[in-house]
Amino acid sequence: MSTKRKPPLIWLNIAIFLLSFLVALVVVPWYGFTTGYGVEHLIWFIVAFSFCNLSITAGYHRLWSHKTYEAHGLLRFIFALGGAFALQNSALHWSSDHRIHHKHVDHNDKDPYSAKRGFWFSHIGWMLREYNANTYSDYSNCRDLQKDKIVMWQHKYYIPLAILTNVGIPLALGIVYGDVLGMLLIVGVLRLVLSHHSTFFINSLAHIWGSQPYTDKNTARDNGVLAFFTFGEGYHNYHHIFENDYRNGIYWWQYDPTKWLIKSCSWLGLTRKLRVTPKLKIEKARAKMCREIAQRKIENLPNASQLKEALNREFEQLITKMSDYYEIKKQVLEAQKSSLTEKYECSLLKLRYQHLKQELSSQRKRWEMQLAQYA
Ligand SMILES: [Zn+2]
Ligand SMILES: [Zn+2]
Repeated sequence: MSTKRKPPLIWLNIAIFLLSFLVALVVVPWYGFTTGYGVEHLIWFIVAFSFCNLSITAGYHRLWSHKTYEAHGLLRFIFALGGAFALQNSALHWSSDHRIHHKHVDHNDKDPYSAKRGFWFSHIGWMLREYNANTYSDYSNCRDLQKDKIVMWQHKYYIPLAILTNVGIPLALGIVYGDVLGMLLIVGVLRLVLSHHSTFFINSLAHIWGSQPYTDKNTARDNGVLAFFTFGEGYHNYHHIFENDYRNGIYWWQYDPTKWLIKSCSWLGLTRKLRVTPKLKIEKARAKMCREIAQRKIENLPNASQLKEALNREFEQLITKMSDYYEIKKQVLEAQKSSLTEKYECSLLKLRYQHLKQELSSQRKRWEMQLAQYA
């Protein structure tokens, strides 16, 4: 049994989480039954909830923690306000914690919200005690952010900004619509509780529930249901292996509104240098993961070494053909851009490209068939 004493409780955090939760659970429905809410409450709830969560996902997470793109000062200012409204500490502090989370993921002593310490701890427990008191003044892993004036301004004035947004916004709406208490309950409290827990699910559920298509070296999972409630952050398995990608859901059918926001802002000149992982790298990771799963199943079969050899052969073939295909694709694109390339050279390249595309497609089928044997 561990003799380590638990660190002291952080009463302010406990009070905020507990009180807001109880009010959302009891007072919000009570007011609904006795007085009732209008459509304006619903609309402003959605606006405020989206503002908070997107400031965390697009701002705190993908911009400041991971530097997956660059943003105009105006957008950074909006994210800084939204982050204070979301009441999740300053961007500097949040990013520092999050960078440690990625660097030491699942390490019970180093990862501030290690999922290996269970659902409760990774969801909210890590914020209820002084587990990481030493990191409160050490932001050495965020020297780059310390050069961002907006980040440092928000860090310095975090408490007044948090109070101003959390009280001021619902209060102003309440005055406009003539229902101060109703707006304080819906846009103030209910929005805060749901925004908190939907973000916290990324640290808890997104490390417990879902699939691991890219890596099982850590607990992070891909989960479409969670992505829906977290503005796209549910594709957490992908995110942990390719953290420098501005996308979490990389396919068009994956729900990632944070990605859509960042991309749309690039058309308006508000974001730039959006970083994406090369497709070859992504496909390689996927194939490697499939090979590992198949290898584990083969392990117990009588002719294991023979089967493994066949599997590896197909895997190597697949990787070679993938590399060839993406290389020629790059060449075709470059040739199309360059006016120097002769027309016939261009058409030769295209022919070779079509050929390799065919080859890769049939190799993929062979690979699928190999995997199907061990499914
Ligand atoms: Zn991250
Ligand atoms: Zn994570």
